[in-house]
Amino acid sequence: MIKSFCKNCNYKQDNLSIGYGFDFTRGSMMPAFCEACNKIQLADMAKENVICKIHKTPIQFYHEDESLAIDANPDQNQAVVEWEGAYILKAKYKCPQCKEHSLKFTNKGINWD
Ligand SMILES: [Zn+2]
Ligand SMILES: [Zn+2]
Repeated sequence: MIKSFCKNCNYKQDNLSIGYGFDFTRGSMMPAFCEACNKIQLADMAKENVICKIHKTPIQFYHEDESLAIDANPDQNQAVVEWEGAYILKAKYKCPQCKEHSLKFTNKGINWD
């Protein structure tokens, strides 16, 4: 479980549940960015060509797309979360609301700073 917060526009989304999720539908849910959406969504990283549920357009995974992150800390030991070999590194991520790189993911279980 991770949460996100943007210090630029105060966008926040809690309870992003990485992995299998609550309903035990199969998949590896990871946070993803849709250019047209104003919120983070969870998508199955095991699927190819993932699309936005609302817009039916391709979406980008935060752990995969380098353009979504700046100042990334490459140390995987310090990553916010790891799921099946995919790491959400500590970085400044692109906010779905204001589109600035000022969004942070934090792990609810661990206090980083
Ligand atoms: Zn969308
Ligand atoms: Zn923002």
